[in-house]
Amino acid sequence: MIQKRYKLKFSEENLQESVAYILVSKFNIQPNILRAEVRDDGGVMVLEMKGRQEDIDASVVYLSDAGISIKAFDKQILKDADRCTDCGACISICPTKCFTPDPETWEVVLNYDKCIACGACLNACPFHALTLPL
Ligand code: SF4
Ligand code: SF4
Repeated sequence: MIQKRYKLKFSEENLQESVAYILVSKFNIQPNILRAEVRDDGGVMVLEMKGRQEDIDASVVYLSDAGISIKAFDKQILKDADRCTDCGACISICPTKCFTPDPETWEVVLNYDKCIACGACLNACPFHALTLPL
């Protein structure tokens, strides 16, 4: 089993596609929708797929053939050190515990390797120090 993240772009026409259902029923993939945004011209989704490499590859081909733009997503959260006040509001909100206070300096340290790009911390930061470009 491997795990991969993708960014999917939907047009208005294929916005209603039930991607998660198709991936489970047709390809035996465990999907996890990390972020989803509806836009004027369609929608964007960050999707994590867990499954066998060949099943993930087949899913990518299927979605692409269905007119959904799909690309590997490797972006992570960005922290603007000038804006961050180390207030700690982001610490408890992160599901993968990316933020930890340094016991010596009390600086909030961000472990980029743990970030799954879920976006949960974006609205938690009162100083708008966190960004995650889609
Ligand atoms: S995007 Fe999600 S996983 Fe990444 S730091 Fe923010 S809350 Fe944690
Ligand atoms: S919530 Fe924002 S300002 Fe507070 S520690 Fe986290 S990134 Fe820094």
